[in-house]
Amino acid sequence: MLHIGIDDTDSVKGGCTTWLATEIIRELPEFDLIGHPRLVRLNPNVPWKTRGNGAVALVFGKGIGRKKQIGSIENNSIFTFEKGKEKKYDKEQIMARILTLMNKHSMPDSEPGIVISDSFLPEGLYWQGVSSIVTKEMLLESTEGTLSTGLRGSRGIFGAACSLAWSGNFSKINGISHTWELIGYRNQNNWGKKRNIELSTVQRVSDIDTVFSCTDLDGKIAMVPHSPCPVLWGFRGTNDTNLIENFEKLGPETPSRWLLYKTNQATDDHLRHKEINDINDGDSVNLEVSVTTKVDIIKGGHRFFEVKDRSNHTVKCAAFEPTKNFRQIVDKLEIGDSLIICGSVNNRTINLEKLRILTLVPRFSKPANPICDCGQRTHSSGKDSYYRCKSCSNKYDRPKMVEVSSGLELKWYEPPASSRRHLSTPLSLMNY
Ligand SMILES: [Zn+2]
Repeated sequence: MLHIGIDDTDSVKGGCTTWLATEIIRELPEFDLIGHPRLVRLNPNVPWKTRGNGAVALVFGKGIGRKKQIGSIENNSIFTFEKGKEKKYDKEQIMARILTLMNKHSMPDSEPGIVISDSFLPEGLYWQGVSSIVTKEMLLESTEGTLSTGLRGSRGIFGAACSLAWSGNFSKINGISHTWELIGYRNQNNWGKKRNIELSTVQRVSDIDTVFSCTDLDGKIAMVPHSPCPVLWGFRGTNDTNLIENFEKLGPETPSRWLLYKTNQATDDHLRHKEINDINDGDSVNLEVSVTTKVDIIKGGHRFFEVKDRSNHTVKCAAFEPTKNFRQIVDKLEIGDSLIICGSVNNRTINLEKLRILTLVPRFSKPANPICDCGQRTHSSGKDSYYRCKSCSNKYDRPKMVEVSSGLELKWYEPPASSRRHLSTPLSLMNY
C-alpha cells in the first residue's frame, strides 16, 4: 500500500498541513483512500514546533468492499475503504507530484517533509515522537526502505515519519486510543478574513453526546481558529458518525471542503509517569506530588508554586495567564495538599495541563481580635502570645483558629478548551 506522511508546512503566518492533505487526495484520483486520514499530534515541547505540531498520514491503494463517505472537496465526495489491495505505483513519480503541491502550499518559513513508505512504520517511532525527541539515528533506522524529502531544512521529515508509525490502536494512559476531528475548510477567497460562525450554531453541536472541546465553560467558541489558516472549524468527538451527521448545523459560513481525520488528540499519549529526579526539559509528565510552597503570582497573572515527590525532590510548577480560571484553583492550594499533576517541562518548570486533588490539608483562618470589656479591639502582643487592650491593659487569650473550607474538591481540574493542548484528554472524556 502507498503510505504518505507530511508535516511542517504551516507557520504562525498561516498555512495548514491538513489542507495539503486534501490537495494530495485531489492529486491522486487513480487511488482509493484505505482507512482514515490520520492527524497525528507530536511532542508539544519540541523547541522547533509550529503551531499545533500536527502531521498527517494517508494510505492509498485499490479499495475492496464497502466504502464510506468521509469528506468532500468542492462537491466531490471523498470515500474511504476499510480494506484495500496493492495498486502499483512509482515512489519517485508520486514524490515529484506531492513535492509540487508542497512547494505551492507550504509557508516560506516552514521546513516541510514528506515520507513515502510501502507500509506502516514501527509503532515505537510514534511513541518516541509523541513523548520525547526523535534523534536522527532513530529516524534513519525506522525509515529504512522509505523515500523521504523536504524543503528548506526538511525537519518535517521527523513528524511525517512519526505519523506513518501511528496506528491509533493502542493506548498507554487512560484507555483512549484515538478520537476524531472533522475539519471544515474555507473557500480560498476567504482566507485571512474573519470567520462567520455564530455562537448559537456552535452551542447546538456542542451539546451532542460524544462531542468535545467546541466551547469553553464560559461559552467562548473554542473550535474556530483565529489564525489566517484555511481551517473554518475543527469539530471533535469520540464518535465519527455523530460528527458527519451534525457538522452542517454550523454556520452561516459553510466549508468548501471537509475531511474526517482519525487523531491522537485527547489521548494523553504524550504523558509519562516519572520521578522528579528523572525529568528533563521537553518531557511531558504525570506525577504524584505534594505542595511545598504557597502560590506566587507574578506580573502578567502567571502563577508559580513548588511541589515535591515521595523522594523529596522538588520542582516548580506554573499556571500561565492563558489557563484563565484554572489559576484560581491553583491559588487555593495550601502547603501539604497532595496532587497528581500533568504537564510539560520547560526550563525545569512544569507547565500545568491539568491537576487532580488527592487530599487537602485542613485550612484555618484567624478570627478577628477579641474586643476588650471596655469596647476597644485588642492587639496581639507577639506570636503565640496573648492579646492586650491598649487603653486598659487587660489581657486576653489568643482566640482559637477556625477551620475554613478550601473551596476545592477531590477531583480533576483543567484549563478551558481554548488553552488546552491538542493531546491532553479533556476531563469530560476521562474515566477515573
Ligand atoms: Zn480595654
